[in-house]
Amino acid sequence: MKTDFDIIIVGAGMVGSTLACALGMQGLSVGLVEAHRPDFDWPDGSVDQRVSAITCASQQIFKGLNAWDVMCRLRVSPYRDMRVWDATGSGEIHFDSADLGEPLLGHIIENRVIQFALHDRLVEYDNVTFIAPVLVTAMELNTDTASVTLDDGRHVSAKLLVAADGSRSKLRELAGIETQGWSYHQHGVVATIKTENTHQETAWQRFMPDGPLAFLPLSDGSSSIVWSTSPEHADELLALDDGAFLEALQSAFGERLGRMLSCGPRAAFPLRMQHAKSYTQHRLALLGDAAHTIHPLAGQGVNLGLADAATLAEVIADAMATHKDIGALKTLRRYERWRKGDNLAMMTTMDAFKRLFGSKVSILKWLRNTGLSLTNRTTPVKNMIMRQAMGLEGDLSRLAKGKQL
Ligand SMILES: Cc1cc2nc3c(=O)[nH]c(=O)nc-3n(C[C@H](O)[C@H](O)[C@H](O)COP(=O)(O)OP(=O)(O)OC[C@H]3O[C@@H](n4cnc5c(N)ncnc54)[C@H](O)[C@@H]3O)c2cc1C
Repeated sequence: MKTDFDIIIVGAGMVGSTLACALGMQGLSVGLVEAHRPDFDWPDGSVDQRVSAITCASQQIFKGLNAWDVMCRLRVSPYRDMRVWDATGSGEIHFDSADLGEPLLGHIIENRVIQFALHDRLVEYDNVTFIAPVLVTAMELNTDTASVTLDDGRHVSAKLLVAADGSRSKLRELAGIETQGWSYHQHGVVATIKTENTHQETAWQRFMPDGPLAFLPLSDGSSSIVWSTSPEHADELLALDDGAFLEALQSAFGERLGRMLSCGPRAAFPLRMQHAKSYTQHRLALLGDAAHTIHPLAGQGVNLGLADAATLAEVIADAMATHKDIGALKTLRRYERWRKGDNLAMMTTMDAFKRLFGSKVSILKWLRNTGLSLTNRTTPVKNMIMRQAMGLEGDLSRLAKGKQL
């Protein structure tokens, strides 16, 4: 096996695979190291428990990498409206893509569909080597090269090492990069639900004191839920039989989608906010959940990671075009400066939302209900929030703007 690359990416999740596609397109030699061999052999008619709300900016990135058509051939679900309301008052906001003159707000896509489409593209690139299933156990960053040791004893090296290995990043730990953040003391319970009424291509979210409950529309008419709640309550919800779970869900969500008819398997994920103090060292760059994790209430986590991947690919392309060292800290700092501010702004906003909507203090309850209703009536503010949530604001990479890399 080849052991020397231009770039080694550790982690072939949605973010690492996106970067590998973008670098593969540029003709760079890439080693993509992953702990698990992906399993794309799913039963007909089944739906992945894990889905992501994908923004228009992320859609452009996938289009630029020729992965979007593959996703569409499998299954993507557009959503055109979003309705958000507070369980403790009358505050409500309705986002409608038509108000912006846009056909939709985004798409809900199963994570495995995203992964499949990216891997379908990757096999086209002879210059990308998929190395799996192996764990990275050690790392060395030197003046001219970076290398990692794999748990089968092999060593691979490159000019640049990229950590796309998720929120508990081994590479971040080995590099000694600290993080700031906290647990939300919430778990996100996920499941696929069939409801009596159609979802109307709308994402629904009810804010309750214990956390938000979202219904995300899927193309077969069912909805994927993310129910953020205390870890104890999440454990109880997982232990219930289907009938009792649907009853609990009905009473939490209300009647907007009619009766809850059936549910698929359930799972729960701990939720935390975490931000790496630094994204780069000489010959190392962090991206995706390895650099930042965020509350899923606005469905932005992987979108921030995809923006990181597109930006880093652009920074590398520009460095190559001007014969600069792609692993030099000076090169990588451009990526860090570009992404850190935007990521931090989104994380801070989501954290403030989570706190405001989780508060039981009367004045804050009044404030958020009044705020929701007021924002709903103030078109320019509402449109600005929508553009932000669609990923259309800020300093976008060429790929996110629909241009060539
Ligand atoms: C309940 C829930 C709902 C969410 N909904 C949304 C949403 O609607 N929209 C959205 O944008 N985001 C959402 N998110 C966030 C999103 O899921 C994450 O941001 C995204 O999965 C991060 O992708 P990643 O590729 O950075 O990391 P990961 O998906 O964690 O991938 C990391 C990869 O690295 C591999 N790896 C780890 N360590 C090693 C090692 N030592 N050696 C080799 N390989 C290794 C792992 O096997 C894995 O494949 C949600 C999150 C949760 C919990």
